Parts: sequence; structure tokens; C-alpha cells
Amino acid sequence: MARFKIPDGWVVQAEADLTPVLGWSLPALRRVWNARKDSAAPWWKENSKEAYNSGLDSLARSLESWWKSRGGRRAGRPVGFPRFHTKRARASVRFTTGPIRLEPDRHHVTLPRLGRIRTHESTRKLALRIENATARVLSATVAKDSDGRWHVSFQTLVQRTTTRPAHAGIRHAVVGVDVGVKDLLVVATPDGAEVERVPAPRSLARAQVRRALQRKASRQQAPYDPQSKHKRLPSKRWRRTQALIGKAHARAASIRRDTVQKATTRLAQQHLTITVETLNVSGMRTAGGARKRGLNRALADAALAQVRRMLAYKTIWYGSRLVEADRWYPSSKTCSGCGSRKPRLLLAERSYVCEHCGLVIDRDLNAAINLARLGETHTVSERSPAGSGPVAGRGAMQETESAPAGDAAGRETSTPPQHPLDQTGTASPQGEAA
Ligand SMILES: [Zn+2]
Repeated sequence: MARFKIPDGWVVQAEADLTPVLGWSLPALRRVWNARKDSAAPWWKENSKEAYNSGLDSLARSLESWWKSRGGRRAGRPVGFPRFHTKRARASVRFTTGPIRLEPDRHHVTLPRLGRIRTHESTRKLALRIENATARVLSATVAKDSDGRWHVSFQTLVQRTTTRPAHAGIRHAVVGVDVGVKDLLVVATPDGAEVERVPAPRSLARAQVRRALQRKASRQQAPYDPQSKHKRLPSKRWRRTQALIGKAHARAASIRRDTVQKATTRLAQQHLTITVETLNVSGMRTAGGARKRGLNRALADAALAQVRRMLAYKTIWYGSRLVEADRWYPSSKTCSGCGSRKPRLLLAERSYVCEHCGLVIDRDLNAAINLARLGETHTVSERSPAGSGPVAGRGAMQETESAPAGDAAGRETSTPPQHPLDQTGTASPQGEAA
């Protein structure tokens, strides 16, 4: 047997003293937690057990995602190793068992451990459904927003009929919707008429207030001291300013959400077929992708994701149809007048100027018209819920310019661009798996 000297400073540990290997499925994590909670967190009984369970559940999910992403078995953006939530992270907990009830007075909810809580908003709509046995509550999530307000949301299974409300007259058979930053939505028909334009709800005054608050906070005593490079106790004024910034953020977000909710309801109720762009996931998922193309592009992607998500369920509610253009469809680069295509169109160019037919048209309207024409070619139902498309391998990092071969050529005729969705499988890798 060979003998060797252990270098100074090395620590030799017996096998039994090493950190044991832990499973990271939810049941495995739960077992570990139950075995150790009395010693590691003797105060555990003060909280609902759901608080630990939702933490372990999201830990199990993120470990799984990280592991799959690492092995290249997960589509979408690369997923890093889970990080701890900081104290300042959004506080939330999900209740899945125990008493979860809406009280008959329509203004209280009962949650496990928290008990009876008064709600600001009436719970009438959901309570009625539960009483009529057309809805069942699966879980309740309690979360705090940046304004310090607590929200409870119920995940429910709802049985509902597909009906278009009587007051909503059908306006158009097919519309195309372009989602942007300056104008949140531009809606057009295949024959080139602008149906609706929803400006993005952003008040300059509010943004200025926010910036002023941030400047103010920078002059106050923050929790990090740049001189000594140490943490310190923030001042009361700094904390007060932070609360005001949080309030401004929460308000801006809810105004935006409200605008998108109302606009998508209108769209789903008033038109039979609605065509939207598909999210450019591959551009978003790599570092430098969305960032390289600027904050505006990132904002537009976020808005598009929100609009698509809402349209996906609202079109089911109201019996209309959602058509999603494949992500190689050049809706903004194609001339809606003659069908010719530009190889390049900068985001800064607000109007589309065609070199072939001389058409000058608002950029977003041009894109919306093209999307509407695409929707028109889809008379047969092709509803595909977001994220159900075939998943491609990683690294499909192509720009939108690389349209399927055969589409770019021969567009000088006066026929409207026709590009059925079913072509996608062949020419373009579909990285969509949001
Ligand atoms: Zn043209």
C-alpha cells in the first residue's frame, strides 16, 4: 500500500461527515425539511406549512429547470442555478390545502392560518360562480406589490359557455394586430383600414416624478455606503422615498395592465379572427439579443407576450379565433401596397416608404395590415395555444430576416403576401416554447 503525506492545512473527512447527497424532487425536499425543521427552524410552527411548501415547490422546479437547461434538454432562455430570494423580493405564498373560502358577504376571504381577511374589491363574480357550481378554487396566492398592498388571487377551474356578449356587435371578420411601444396596439383590416389605435399608457409626468424620486433617493442615506464600502442602516427619509418609488411603479403597472385588459377584451369581442405576431423568443433568450436591440424592443416583446396571453383565453371565451403568424413572417418589412419586401427596416423608421410602388404608410399600420391578410388566408381553424409549437434545439439564433426560402423571392406581384402557418415546420426552426 502506497503511503503519502497529507499536506498541511488539508482536512480529511470521513465519508459519514460529508454533506449527504440530497434529492431535489418536491417529496425529497419535503422529507429533508420535515427531518430538520425542528433543529434548523424551531419557529416553523408560527407560519402556515404552505409557506414552506411553496418555497420547496419553486426550489424543486427551478432545480429541475436548471438541470435540464444545463443538459440542453430545455428550450428557451438558459436557466441559471436557483438563487435565494432576498428580503426585498416580492413576498408571496400559495395555499393549496386547508380552508380557502370566499365569505357570503362578498367582502371577506378566509385563508389557512391567516383567517378571515377583508377585501377591498368585491368577490361577487367569483362567489356567484362558486355558488352555482361553475367554478372550483384550486389554490389561493397571496402576494405583496411594490406599493405594499396585499393581493389575493384564486386559481380556479371554471366551466363557462363560449358566448359573445349581446352588446358586442361584430365589427370585422379578420383583423391584424401590431403590438408596439409608442402605440400599444394598431389594429387593421386586410383591405387596409385602420380599425383602432391604442396609445401606450405612459404618462411623461409620472415617469419624471419617478426619476425625480430616484435622484432624491440617491442623495439620501442608502443601505450601502460607497465611501466605506459597507452596509449601513438606511435613513428614514431614504425608506420613505423608496416607498414612494414603489407606489409609482405599482401605479404605472396597473394602469398598463388595465389598458391591455380592456383592449384585448374589445378585440376578442368585436372581431372573428385576430392575427398577431409570434414572440421572437430566440432573440430574447441570449445575452445581448434583446439588449442589443435596445430597451424598446424588450418592452415591445413584453407587451406582445402580455397581449398574446390575454387574447389566447379571451378568444376562447368569446368564440373568436386567434391566428399567430410564424416568427419568420415579415409583417413589418413587407409593403402592404404591392407586397415587395425590404431587406432591412430600422426600428427608428416610423413610416414605411416603398421603393417599388411609392407607398408611404405608418410603419405599425403597414404591419397590422399584413398580419390581417395573413389571418384572412387562414379560414380553417388553426388555433395553436402559445408554447405548443415544436421545440427546436438551442442556438437557433437567426434574425427575422432569414425568412423561409421561396418567400423572399417573387414578391413583386400585386398579390397580398400569402404565407400559411403550416409551412413553418419545413424551412424555419421554431424556437418558440415560451
Ligand atoms: Zn410597395
